Amino acid sequence: MASISLNKLNKTFGALKVVHDIDLDIADKEFVVLVGPSGCGKSTTLRMIAGLEEISGGELRIGADLMNDVPSKDRDIAMVFQNYALYPHMTVYKNMAFGLELRKAPRDLIETKVQEAAKILDITHLLNRKPKALSGGQRQRVALGRAMVRNPEVFLLDEPLSNLDAKLRGTMRAEISKLHKRLNATFIYVTHDQVEAMTMADRIVVMKDGHIQQVDTPQNLYDRPVNMFVAGFIGAPQ
Ligand code: ADP
Ligand code: MG
Repeated sequence: MASISLNKLNKTFGALKVVHDIDLDIADKEFVVLVGPSGCGKSTTLRMIAGLEEISGGELRIGADLMNDVPSKDRDIAMVFQNYALYPHMTVYKNMAFGLELRKAPRDLIETKVQEAAKILDITHLLNRKPKALSGGQRQRVALGRAMVRNPEVFLLDEPLSNLDAKLRGTMRAEISKLHKRLNATFIYVTHDQVEAMTMADRIVVMKDGHIQQVDTPQNLYDRPVNMFVAGFIGAPQ
């Protein structure tokens, strides 16, 4: 069960506190979107969940397990970044296979998993290319594919579409929502695009200056924002 709970989670960088006592319970298979202005602590929160950033205080649980000190590689989590972070010298196939190879998975299982993910993402014809020969949208599909092959229980996506043009963003938005339903995984998705938040989220978490302002469904946030900040953020024109 990949429910995720943050209990008074904190992050400080030296004297700077960037995440303040965050409490958040995310249900198994939920699609939660984190929004808020640049610098409010969204990526840091995601990176603590992924184990890429040390937790300064509080608790992180996945299911019933306390994860604070579990190394990133031992968490059943995949992360997708804005800048794709593909390995430039490897083919698409190798990019997608690499995580399983590191875990010493059998070659035929790797082949099956990569082909399966490639088919779902419509990138089978690109498997022999290097990342530099791909468009932005194709690279983002490969990044998603690379995350998928391990069947993680949790997907963390940090502004995955913000390098794409508006039309492609629309397409990928729908693809990611479809993927979420199909994969049966818990998704936490960071964006500053309110259309993405409103259309993709089961619940939206609005952050400001390292604090959570409100957590609710898109409809409730829109109808009953708790303060001017949330109202401004949700209602703001694109
Ligand atoms: P967001 O993703 O919401 O834009 P971040 O989580 O990246 O915000 O950053 C939150 C705050 O933490 C910012 O003020 C940022 O400058 C600071 N910060 C992030 N990473 C570091 C770091 N490694 N060292 C010092 N400060 C950092
Ligand atoms: Mg960020």
